[in-house]
Amino acid sequence: MEHRAEARIDSAAIAANISTLKSKSGVELLAVVKADAYGHGLIETGLVAEKSGADWLGVALLEEAIALRTHGVRIPILAWLLPPGSDYRAAHKHDIDVAVASIAVFNEISALKSQVRVHIEVDTGMTRGGFLDEWDEFLHLDFSQVDVVGIFSHFARADEPAEKQNSEQLTRFKKMVADLAAIGINPPIKHLSNSAATLKNQESVFDLVRTGIAMYGLSPDVKTLGSSNELSLKPAMQLRAKLHLVKKVSAGQPVGYGASAVTQKNTKLGIVAMGYADGIPRIAQGAGVFHGGKRAPIIGRVSMDQFVVDLGADSQAMSGDWVTVFGGGAHGEYTADDWATASQTINYEIVTRIGPRVPRIYAPHVY
Ligand SMILES: *Cc1c(COP(=O)(O)O)cnc(C)c1O
Repeated sequence: MEHRAEARIDSAAIAANISTLKSKSGVELLAVVKADAYGHGLIETGLVAEKSGADWLGVALLEEAIALRTHGVRIPILAWLLPPGSDYRAAHKHDIDVAVASIAVFNEISALKSQVRVHIEVDTGMTRGGFLDEWDEFLHLDFSQVDVVGIFSHFARADEPAEKQNSEQLTRFKKMVADLAAIGINPPIKHLSNSAATLKNQESVFDLVRTGIAMYGLSPDVKTLGSSNELSLKPAMQLRAKLHLVKKVSAGQPVGYGASAVTQKNTKLGIVAMGYADGIPRIAQGAGVFHGGKRAPIIGRVSMDQFVVDLGADSQAMSGDWVTVFGGGAHGEYTADDWATASQTINYEIVTRIGPRVPRIYAPHVY
């Protein structure tokens, strides 16, 4: 069946990004594939990452980890968002490492007496996951029934390398590692860096880096860290859609719900077969699509299944043509960063929210 839209995922770009990031850090790399691999497809991306030299895979949910295992992933997998009551026995059975951030979870895992592999998550200042108030009490527990292989934390502001919160978190991390060492627990794998820290904070590398967004070829923050291109990263996703209709309209025509825009002159409009149900932000203004070597900006509001672009009076576009919604940017097309700016959000959200109606095609980009 011919699609009306597709996300083309370039596995070679993911492989190149992994190799760039590995040579940058010089340590093991955990490829973060949570949230359907930031919209790139959990299983395919996990397998591509494994084949391309990732040493670990990281996910939020246990079910994501189990899906990777049952599809043949063999490298270590860490899952870090398991509330009390999770099926730790299943994690153990599938050889999945789990994060522990509370005494409640630690006790459940200990009670299994199965030497489940755990990574202790510590809160060093982001004030989200990880041990904070329970830390001193935690240090007095019996660790004999678990296999402590890791300790880790997460940066809140790694995309702003000059912020002093980064060095404060690093100091706090070292302190918590020392607290554990003082009770005789020395986890071999200490990890703190996300993509931004991997790119800009060599001091925080430790034994493993956890890279998500950069592995997909996107900059953690274009303003503070530079663009994909400046960071030698290759955007892996190209989003394409069909024009289901191209029509001539005259000047002064209101376009779309709420008539929020009006044509300024006689022009051709293209109706793109994708909308907010597919993850195109409804508020997007200032992005658009790329067709025939030219950008065509959005006009009016994005609808559920479609949005309208102004192709210009001279456009050769025809109903049924493909357009690029975003891509790597090298040809002049809009990027995920352009869409993020146009939608008052970050590139993470743009790629991650591309919906399940859009098939992922593992193939090179086309223009
Ligand atoms: C999502 C996540 C990462 C990856 O962050 P990026 O900025 O995409 O590299 C790393 N570690 C943890 C704990 C995460 O939740």
